Amino acid sequence: MLESRRLSKLKLVRIGRPVSRVDLQALAARIGEAFPGQLDSIQTVDYEPPKIDRIEADLLTQALDQEVGGHILGITDVDLLDRGAGEFFKGMFGCKDNRNDVAVVSTRRIASPDPGRSIARLLKVGLHELGHNFGLVHHYSLQPASDGGYCVMAKDDYNRHGERSYKRSVIDARGFRFCDACRTVLRLTRAR
Ligand SMILES: [Zn+2]
Ligand SMILES: [Zn+2]
Repeated sequence: MLESRRLSKLKLVRIGRPVSRVDLQALAARIGEAFPGQLDSIQTVDYEPPKIDRIEADLLTQALDQEVGGHILGITDVDLLDRGAGEFFKGMFGCKDNRNDVAVVSTRRIASPDPGRSIARLLKVGLHELGHNFGLVHHYSLQPASDGGYCVMAKDDYNRHGERSYKRSVIDARGFRFCDACRTVLRLTRAR
């Protein structure tokens, strides 16, 4: 099947209750706005997770791939861990599994006392991981997009910032749109 066909139907999977049903529907609408022409439908799905506090991100993406299937963005409040290069597990905001079409984001490390900011961060990290599903890569030049914020795919050296500063300087500075270069790639994906 053509890649664009495979990716055109998104399942937004709520794992447990990290956001309300109203917020889930609002996220679905805003994801649709960020991918004009790429997503034909966005279906919201509830998924009951195992009762755990943290999980290796790969295990969660594989479970979603096998038990739900398709093009998925999963939202969880469980802490997502990356085994990384060494023996230490590192917490992540979100990730995409290259072996399938599953991306996940966690509210755990992006939560803010301001609920609006929490939702905005969730959407920005979710759009970023979905961008990877469509073949987009990071850029470190922090290009602005049409809404004035940095492109969703903008990234900076995490180790230079640390978690707290990264959230404020990079994630909060992103907008909700892709820059012209990324949009060109998205259009080519659709046309393939
Ligand atoms: Zn990324
Ligand atoms: Zn971009």
